[in-house]
Amino acid sequence: MIEVALKCSCGQVEGTAHNISPQTGLRLVCHCDDCQAFANYLGREADILDACGGTDVFQTTPSQIEITKGHDQLRCVRLGPKGLFRWYTDCCKTPVANTINASLPFSGIVHNFMDDKGLRDNNLGPVRFSVMGKFAKDGSPLPRDTHDTFPLSIMLIAIPRMIKNKILGRHKPSPFFDKTGAPVCEPVIHTKD
Ligand SMILES: [Zn+2]
Ligand SMILES: [Zn+2]
Repeated sequence: MIEVALKCSCGQVEGTAHNISPQTGLRLVCHCDDCQAFANYLGREADILDACGGTDVFQTTPSQIEITKGHDQLRCVRLGPKGLFRWYTDCCKTPVANTINASLPFSGIVHNFMDDKGLRDNNLGPVRFSVMGKFAKDGSPLPRDTHDTFPLSIMLIAIPRMIKNKILGRHKPSPFFDKTGAPVCEPVIHTKD
């Protein structure tokens, strides 16, 4: 288990991801249109998305994420009224993490926010799943094991883990939701187009 430094591109927002290992999270690359729209919204497609339009995300729990500096720069966008709560920094539009709601122990940390250059494979393990390939852009060839959609095999890992983390109370404390479950800043609702 290691601690991974978290940092936005300009350094105004910093934090730490605690107890990180390939076993305490799930690393995947998502090519979905929602993740692509988020990168587009931030104006940083070039360094968020890979050549196929994929985003490298490490799914872990909110209680493992601590923001130590620059809380006032956190912003949230939802792509549609029922969309994920997608967190980013206002200062330099760095994507931070994607969450579902306050009560689920789920936070997908976007790679740009992890200060782990050169150590990522070591810290998180290799990419376990490449998903939502039906939305991939024509770029370099997709990894051969890319799933068209979000496969059941992930759910078979993620759901038991989510239940365990819920029992252990790892949905809080959260840097994204306060004690009442309200988001720490009002999400902007944006349409995908
Ligand atoms: Zn910044
Ligand atoms: Zn996605």
